[in-house]
Amino acid sequence: MSFKENVNLHVDKSAKLLNFSNDLLEHLKSIHSLIKVNVGVVLNEKIHNFTGWRAVHSEHILPSKGGLRYSETVDQDDTEALASLMTYKCAIVNIPFGGAKGGLKINPKNYTMPELRAITKAFATKLINKGFISPALNVPAPDVGTSEREMEWILDTYKTLKPDDINYRGCVTGKPLHRGGITGRTEATGRGIEEVIREIFRHKDIIKEARLKNELKENKIIIQGFGNVGSNLAKHLYNRDNAKIIAIGEHDGYLFNKDGIDINALIEFNQKNKSINSTKLGYFKNNPSELLELNCDILIPAALENVITIDNVDKLKAKLIIEAANGPISFKADKKLYEKGVIIIPDIYVNAGGVVVSYFEWVKDISHIRFGRVEKRFQEQKIQEIIDLIDKKTETKTDFNTIKNIMHGADEEDLAFSGLEDTMRNAFTEIYNVKKKIKKSYRESAYYVSLKKIRNFYTEEGFPKR
Ligand code: GLU
Repeated sequence: MSFKENVNLHVDKSAKLLNFSNDLLEHLKSIHSLIKVNVGVVLNEKIHNFTGWRAVHSEHILPSKGGLRYSETVDQDDTEALASLMTYKCAIVNIPFGGAKGGLKINPKNYTMPELRAITKAFATKLINKGFISPALNVPAPDVGTSEREMEWILDTYKTLKPDDINYRGCVTGKPLHRGGITGRTEATGRGIEEVIREIFRHKDIIKEARLKNELKENKIIIQGFGNVGSNLAKHLYNRDNAKIIAIGEHDGYLFNKDGIDINALIEFNQKNKSINSTKLGYFKNNPSELLELNCDILIPAALENVITIDNVDKLKAKLIIEAANGPISFKADKKLYEKGVIIIPDIYVNAGGVVVSYFEWVKDISHIRFGRVEKRFQEQKIQEIIDLIDKKTETKTDFNTIKNIMHGADEEDLAFSGLEDTMRNAFTEIYNVKKKIKKSYRESAYYVSLKKIRNFYTEEGFPKR
């Protein structure tokens, strides 16, 4: 079964609960526009050909939004499936975007930086000229194999081709700060997932049902993937929640330490060595697939799709699975886990933090002002006045450090993370309430929430009333 078929089976299940009509459902599931490009780039005096796609799954709100992936495994079906996940994701977290995704079939590790820049610019030129990148219509972001570097190259290309677009900086998100990026975007997906886990631990009924230990820090956690999402998630869990992460997996194996891995040391090591092998922070085993089967309480697949399938599902021991990656569990494996009582918090909600902060970045770009720029000092001044008044009335003197701590007005990162936390918590409440009503899995409830919101657009737009 393809990735797209897997996603659509989930959609069908929840649509049935909502009594969706078949014609609307077919329309919603279909890709609304798609481009396939072949780019020829001259490298070392030879033409190299690359194939890429950009799929727009929905346009009920514009722009359509979603990452751009560089990987050898990219194909049209996966790109379409990932674009559809973006639609459902944005609706769940109330982000006013349609869903899109793009991909280029390439192993970026085989190319030098100037080569990658030339390839990215050629790819971007095609997409821009065909209307598949624009601040108003279609806005890419980093994904597997891309980062703020590629977004900057795309931005440059867009600016050159469309110099009269005053909102040009909004043509991509996840770009460097000095090019109109937002503080916190790189960490946003990981940080958002941490907020999801914190929210779960505020619900004692879920903890009981999952047979987890009461406190987050008492549970054994495994993370598969130490890329941008996995490493930032681990960083926040370790530093803000004291979490015990006993194993971290990468493509070549996994690092294990039964007492919990020192994540800060691991991040430093990984930055220097581009690997988590031979660290002294635990032992490394060259058997990546074994990781998912280890004894643990919480399992977080944060790498690629389709890693938990009918072939390994019976070997899993986790009580709670947090889907940080897109589509890590196959449809059939998902059904088995649900029947076994394993709680799965689904991708379309869990990893939405990236697009949430992308939205803040895009708003910043089209409003041409940084969040907090106007009011920060005013806020601080007012707090100072309150402290002075209290000191005067109580005839005391608040010490300098306390004043410094309370007085700090919100800067851009504070606001981005505060908006992120609020969004993730509100979305959880929506899913949780629906789950109580329909008495199905978190995934079915999440799709239910999402589809219900999207359906509203089709009644408003003059489609037959449903
Ligand atoms: N690639 C990320 C995702 O799959 C981010 C998308 C975005 O920010 O547009 O959610």
